[in-house]
Amino acid sequence: MRYVSTRGSAKALNFSEVTLAGLASDGGLYLPERWPHFTASEIAAMRGLPYAELAQRVMQPFVGDCLTEQRLGELCEQAYSRFAHKAVTPLVQLDQRDWLLELFHGPTLAFKDVALQLLGLLFEEFLARDGGRLTIVGATSGDTGSAAIDAVAGRDNVEIFMLHPKGRVSDVQRTQMTTVLAPNVHNIAIEGSFDDAQAMVKRIFADESVIARHRIGAVNSINWARLMAQVVYYFAAALQLGAPDRRVAFSVPTGNFGDVFAGHVAARMGLPIEKLVVATNVNDILHRALTSGDYSAGEVTPTASPSMDIQVSSNFERLLFDVGGRDGSAMAQQMAEFDAKRAMKLTDGQRTGAGERIMSVRADADDMLLAMRRTWEDSGELIDPHTAIGLHAARCTDVPEGVPMVTLATAHPAKFRDPVEQATGIRPSLPNRIGDLFQREERYDELPGNYEAVRDYIMDNAA
Ligand SMILES: *Cc1c(COP(=O)(O)O)cnc(C)c1O
Repeated sequence: MRYVSTRGSAKALNFSEVTLAGLASDGGLYLPERWPHFTASEIAAMRGLPYAELAQRVMQPFVGDCLTEQRLGELCEQAYSRFAHKAVTPLVQLDQRDWLLELFHGPTLAFKDVALQLLGLLFEEFLARDGGRLTIVGATSGDTGSAAIDAVAGRDNVEIFMLHPKGRVSDVQRTQMTTVLAPNVHNIAIEGSFDDAQAMVKRIFADESVIARHRIGAVNSINWARLMAQVVYYFAAALQLGAPDRRVAFSVPTGNFGDVFAGHVAARMGLPIEKLVVATNVNDILHRALTSGDYSAGEVTPTASPSMDIQVSSNFERLLFDVGGRDGSAMAQQMAEFDAKRAMKLTDGQRTGAGERIMSVRADADDMLLAMRRTWEDSGELIDPHTAIGLHAARCTDVPEGVPMVTLATAHPAKFRDPVEQATGIRPSLPNRIGDLFQREERYDELPGNYEAVRDYIMDNAA
């Protein structure tokens, strides 16, 4: 399997190269040259498989000959053995139509573990082969940082520098990162906002003085392998609910568009997905783009669902490329316009293509609180603010009789205790596996919000 850039001019890569690469050299994002496809009988044959085996089957066509079936199977087994639920991503029924797909049973309580636990192993595997080292640089508003650090702590030939905006992540999120004391983990609290931190990371990737000496890798969802691993749970859920003989709809709490793009990929691969609902909070650039074609960034409004507080949604470019005729040079032009004006219009082809399966709903703070309260009262389930936005969107969406609607539960309620308590009166306790978090020793460095300070820190500390 070859991977091509959405902007058309970067060199095509194989799976191991694309895993280590992150962003393409032309500024685009990598995608498979064509989608693998399963027939209905191939999908039916996946029913009842344990999660790790299903993961191997669904991902093998993307991996090609970079890993044997046996080796990929072993890595999946290892990645998913650390989940606290044997089913890895269990389904919970709320009522006749609505279901929750619980993606938060990994080590750091958010869905990002599902992909990052595997990605950490893939890094180690591919680096051992080519004898190189990888220096991961990332910025986080909370969940990505903790999941990425957990996934690479103590692994060979890879180290991680994770920037978080000082004082702007929750105590649970910060301590999940800073109490990991492995020598290959470097936590940096920087002055400024998440967007400032993210902008510095982008400069590192393009800084000749850094990339001449270090291979810089990415762990955010611009990394293809992350999206690939997320395709698996769409199959897992749909198979349990009767696919391929029954169509299934999904509602996805969305920020950077990675998770919902994985649903689009599952549909391309032949999974009968009736609808994909993009659920946004008041930071609604995607909702505006999908309903009116206007993709224009404003200011970020902080909300109780911080992992969806974005104005620019990186993976949306992958969708626009894929549904808009896969024209790299047109895509490059469109994105150049966006970079210059922070605004662009979707083409008619992109709007029609996206609209075939994807729709969107925007939820405000009241919608979110009401969804948490109602779910607690009606079903006895505590859900986190991100999941609540997804469930609100699901309930606003009509699907044909008999089509189940699955909302992706992207974080454990204990990760966002204040809004959950506000909505339900119940303060969820941290699961035992991370219960002593606040007693553990923390380690991180503080840096001023200037690029040179961050670059010098990385150059001084990278092995
Ligand atoms: C990252 C995250 C999201 C958004 O996922 P994207 O793939 O960026 O759209 C939603 N909810 C939670 C809890 C997250 O951590």
